[in-house]
Amino acid sequence: MDTTTQSAVQGKRTAASQPFDPSYDPLKDATPGVGKDYAPTYWVATGGEPPEDDGPIEHDIEVDVAIIGAGFTGLTAAIFLAEQHGIKAHVLEANRTSWGCTTRNGGQAQCATGRLKRSQWISRYGLKVAHQLHQECIDAMENFKELIKDIDCEPQPGGHLYIAHRDKVMPTLEKEAKLLRDEFNYDAQILSATDVKRDWVDDKEAAGAMHEPEGIGIHAAKLAFGYHKKARALGAKIHPQSPVQGFETKNGVHYLKTPGGVVKAKAVGIATGGYTSQSLHPQLKNRLLPILSNSIVTRVLTDKEIEACNFQTKQVITDTRILRHYYRRLPDNRVQIGSRSAITGRDAPNKKYESMLISDMHRKFPALKDIQIDFSWWGWVDVSHDMMPRIFQPEAKETVYYALGYGGNGVMYSSQAGRRLAQWIAGKGKELDMPIFTSKLPHPNLFEKVESPVFAPFRRFGQRFLYRWYGLKDEKI
Ligand SMILES: Cc1cc2nc3c(=O)[nH]c(=O)nc-3n(C[C@H](O)[C@H](O)[C@H](O)COP(=O)(O)OP(=O)(O)OC[C@H]3O[C@@H](n4cnc5c(N)ncnc54)[C@H](O)[C@@H]3O)c2cc1C
Repeated sequence: MDTTTQSAVQGKRTAASQPFDPSYDPLKDATPGVGKDYAPTYWVATGGEPPEDDGPIEHDIEVDVAIIGAGFTGLTAAIFLAEQHGIKAHVLEANRTSWGCTTRNGGQAQCATGRLKRSQWISRYGLKVAHQLHQECIDAMENFKELIKDIDCEPQPGGHLYIAHRDKVMPTLEKEAKLLRDEFNYDAQILSATDVKRDWVDDKEAAGAMHEPEGIGIHAAKLAFGYHKKARALGAKIHPQSPVQGFETKNGVHYLKTPGGVVKAKAVGIATGGYTSQSLHPQLKNRLLPILSNSIVTRVLTDKEIEACNFQTKQVITDTRILRHYYRRLPDNRVQIGSRSAITGRDAPNKKYESMLISDMHRKFPALKDIQIDFSWWGWVDVSHDMMPRIFQPEAKETVYYALGYGGNGVMYSSQAGRRLAQWIAGKGKELDMPIFTSKLPHPNLFEKVESPVFAPFRRFGQRFLYRWYGLKDEKI
C-alpha cells in the first residue's frame, strides 16, 4: 500500500453536527444544510457505521478537481477519476456522506437511464440513437455489476418485474416487450395475471406483468458506504459538513466557498442530484424539477403473512402507474414500498402522504392490513424537464461539468454517470456522442414543445395539476 492510500484510509469519522431536518426544499433554500444527520431510513439503521472520512474543510485549499455532492454519482466519479485517469478528487458534501437520495431510495438497480421507455426513445430520437442509449444502459449495468462485486450490499439479482396495475395496460406492455425482444434483443417476457400471482407475488392489483432480465435490488447505505471506502482507498478525499455556499469562476479557476474555507479548483464536477439548489450555479437555475418520493418499510413478515401474499420473489418490482409504486421483499422478509409524496419540502412531513402509501400497500396486499411500519422517509428526486439525464459541460469555456437528472432511476445509472463525469473532467467528454452527453439540461417546456425559463415559476402549479391528471389516468380513465 503506498503512503497516499494509507493516509486516505486512515481518516476520522465526522459525526453529525445537527439533527436531521426534513424540510429542505431545493426550490426555496440555498443549501441542504451543514452537517445534518441522516434521514431515518431502513438503510441507515441497518447499514452499519458510516465510514471514516477526511473531515470538513477547515481552511482554504487548492485542488485539481472538486466534486460537489457525496452520493452515488459523486463517489463513483471520484472512483473512476482515480482508477482510470489518475486524478485524486476532493468530494465536498454538505451533510454526512451519501446524505441525499443515495441513502433514501428503494435500492432498485434497473437497466434504464432517465424515465423514458425504449419506444419513447425511438419516437424522440430515432432508432439509431435508441440503440445507442440501450447499449449505454447495458454497459452501465455491466459497470454496476463490476463495481458492486466486492461490496457487501445484499444484492437481490434476477431481473425486474413490471406489474400491470390494470387490464387496460396489458396491450401496451405486450407491445413494449415485443419491441424489446425484436428490436433490442433484450429478453422481456410477458406473464399473465395467473402466472404472476401463482409464481411470483400475489399483488391483488396485478393484471399481468412484463419480466425483464436485468434488475438487482441492493442495500442502499451499504452500497454507498462501499463506494465511499473504495474512493478513499484510491486516494480521493471526502469532506462532509462542507456545503458549497458560493461558486465563483475567475480566469478559469473556480472558488468554492464552504463554511471552513475556500476550495480553489481547476475543475468542478456537480453531483448534487435532487438536492441542487437554485443558486448553486447559474447553469443549473430552473434546469431540474425536484420531486419528492416517499418510502416505507414494514416490520419483518411472519411465514404466514409471506404465504398470504404469496411473496415468492425477492426481485425488484414496479407497477405501471405513471405515479408508480416500487416495492420488493427485502432479504430480512420486510416489505419496502414507495411512491410519490408531497410537492413542497414544508408539506412533506404531513402524515397524509405516509397514509396514502400505506393504503396503496393494503390494496396490493390486504393481508398486511394492520402491519406495523418500522421505517418511513422521503427524499428529493432529480427530474429533468425532458425526463432524460445529462452528463455534460454546459459552458465550453468553463471546466464545470454535471451529472444530473436521472428521474428516479439513478441507483444503477449513477455509477455510469460517475464514470462519464470522470471522462468529461479528464478531458475525454467530447468522445461521448449521445444526446445525454451533448446537450444541456433543458428549461421547463410547454407540452414538450416550447422550452423556456419563463415557465419556471409555474412548475409547481403545473405539477399539482399533473398529479391530479395522472391520478385520474392511472385509476379511472
Ligand atoms: C424515496 C426515493 C426512492 C428512490 N428509489 C429509487 C430506486 O429504487 N431506484 C433508482 O434507480 N433510483 C431511486 N431513487 C433515485 C436515486 O436514489 C437517485 O437517482 C440517486 O441516489 C442519485 O444519487 P446522486 O449522487 O446523484 O444524488 P444524491 O444522493 O441526492 O446526492 C447529492 C448530494 O449532494 C449534496 N449537496 C447538495 N447541494 C450541495 C452543496 N451546495 N454543497 C455540498 N453538497 C451538496 C447533498 O447533501 C447530497 O448528499 C429514489 C429516490 C428517492 C428519494
